Amino acid sequence: MTKAYDIIVIGAALNGLAAALALGGRQVKRPLEIALVDARDPRAFASNAFDGRASAITAAARRMFGALGVWDKVAHEAQPMTDIIVTDSAIPGGARPVLLQFGADDMKGGPSAHMIENRFLYAAMLEEAEAAPHISFVVGDPVEGYSFGPGLAAVRLAGGTVLRAPLIVAADGRNSPAREAAGIKLIGWPYDQMGLVATVEHELPHNGRAEEHFTPSGPFAILPLPGNRSSLVWSERTEAAQRMLALPLPDFEEELKLRFGSHLGEVKLISGRHGYPLAMYLAESFSAPRLALVGDAAHVLHPLAGLGFNLGLRDVAALADCIHDASGLGLDIGSEAVLDRYTQWRRFDTVATGAAMDGMNRLFANTNPVLTLLRRAGLLVVNRMGGMKSMFVSEAAGISGNLPKLLRGEKV
Ligand SMILES: Cc1cc2nc3c(=O)[nH]c(=O)nc-3n(C[C@H](O)[C@H](O)[C@H](O)COP(=O)(O)OP(=O)(O)OC[C@H]3O[C@@H](n4cnc5c(N)ncnc54)[C@H](O)[C@@H]3O)c2cc1C
Repeated sequence: MTKAYDIIVIGAALNGLAAALALGGRQVKRPLEIALVDARDPRAFASNAFDGRASAITAAARRMFGALGVWDKVAHEAQPMTDIIVTDSAIPGGARPVLLQFGADDMKGGPSAHMIENRFLYAAMLEEAEAAPHISFVVGDPVEGYSFGPGLAAVRLAGGTVLRAPLIVAADGRNSPAREAAGIKLIGWPYDQMGLVATVEHELPHNGRAEEHFTPSGPFAILPLPGNRSSLVWSERTEAAQRMLALPLPDFEEELKLRFGSHLGEVKLISGRHGYPLAMYLAESFSAPRLALVGDAAHVLHPLAGLGFNLGLRDVAALADCIHDASGLGLDIGSEAVLDRYTQWRRFDTVATGAAMDGMNRLFANTNPVLTLLRRAGLLVVNRMGGMKSMFVSEAAGISGNLPKLLRGEKV
């Protein structure tokens, strides 16, 4: 059986759902016909079960969710980050003087980010996509074959169905089979680090404060969730992380408490623990004939600033502008001109962000005493410069630079 669409989106996880909504959702002025394809059935993995994974959603991403009809569904589950502190300490649980702080004065335009559990975001996007008449779910059947061009792209599913469209958008994750099939190479390297992710409950309120503690083995982030709960992203050297993951739960909890500190009173682990190998990879190009990459298919970054998913949303927003502009003019939405515009728009921002995350991770992991002194002095200087801090906040909120419409909160 062969079916034709305007766009085939491969991957119905966070970035694929966002792409489907931005291209064919109910809020889109001239929606395109979208096939949303995934090997898994997203309804099965959008369970309401709490799995401890959460994301920091920047102010720009929040506007985008507003324009896509998603934010109102999740706003009550989101915790604004109203205060951010950065420390640099060699000893887990030891004294951690605050070197840099961003508070209400630096965030006059509102919080730079909100923390939200992935399960709520996911369920809201899924609900919106299921209600969209121009998005067809083709799920539970993996893509096994790809052909790109010249005039049309096509995918063959394991069950035998063939889908055709002028453009494929690959949101199929860090091992992206579509990227491989198109021969796009990756540049980057694995870190000898893993990210341990868990959620804790604490006795005292966090008051919206996010904490980033740099330690020689990697950053330890405490990110506020609604209630007296926080999401932890704890980076450790791979060997130590594997040791932690193998510990009996009460011993793991003790290690975690040692790093967390006692400033929020008693701390209790309330989720499972997940370990992710950390890496920095960038696709050499974000497009190939009749193919655009978004999300982890295009880039994987160190999670120290919690930007991974936000970068994916920036891809989706820029791609939506490129495609809707072309479609509005009656042009071929999968043409080289459209895809070149997308790659140029996104690649510089991604390379710059990736390099900044990589540099920060290396700088703070270095225990050379001279370098340690310099970086601490540098942070203290930045802390006294209001203008520079506001600039950092705008950057972290994703509201600076050449923003596509969705990130400005405008409909496409
Ligand atoms: C430790 C850690 C902490 C993080 N914290 C944050 C944070 O705080 N904020 C943030 O913004 N980001 C964070 N991130 C990054 C974020 O989680 C990822 O960027 C995001 O989940 C990637 O989503 P995706 O949709 O691109 O890919 P994936 O979630 O990998 O989804 C890919 C989809 O494609 C489907 N697929 C693959 N191959 C095929 C095929 N052949 N046929 C059909 N379907 C296929 C899969 O079934 C899957 O559903 C973190 C990452 C890590 C590792």
